[in-house]
Amino acid sequence: MTDTDLIRLALAAAAEAGPRDVPIGAVVLDHDGTELARAANAREELGDPTAHAEILALRAAAKVRGDGWRLEGATLVVTVEPCTMCAGALVMARVARVVFGAWEPKTGAVGSLWDVVRDRRLTHRPEVRGGVLADECAAPLEAFFRAERAATAKSGPESRRGLTLGDD
Ligand code: ZN
Repeated sequence: MTDTDLIRLALAAAAEAGPRDVPIGAVVLDHDGTELARAANAREELGDPTAHAEILALRAAAKVRGDGWRLEGATLVVTVEPCTMCAGALVMARVARVVFGAWEPKTGAVGSLWDVVRDRRLTHRPEVRGGVLADECAAPLEAFFRAERAATAKSGPESRRGLTLGDD
């Protein structure tokens, strides 16, 4: 499977996000390319600040592999550049490779705002490929925030939450 194919899997996962959740999807594959787990961002649905797609997928993947918390040799694929929490988690999980779609200049921690995963002070540094199908990955987010803005505009300025891409 090419990285483009992998991102398409993550896009399919993103499409499973609940109606209130920012549509971001992640997939974890084993070293041989077997899919271990996939997840969509479920922060609103679960009322959990840590329920980003990457975290949910990493947790599920470790459970499926069933041999502890290490995901050595695994690849994490996600539609949007991971935040600091998720970048930290994937380093902690010892993921070998990260592939992501859209860059996230406001909060991205895999090369945009920070580069948490390739800090030279770390002993484990995953390989990174970003910007794969970037426009296709950004499209569902843009549509989501456009709809959110339209909804808040309709319900009046006092309920405006000033949502931007950077909120996630
Ligand atoms: Zn995150």
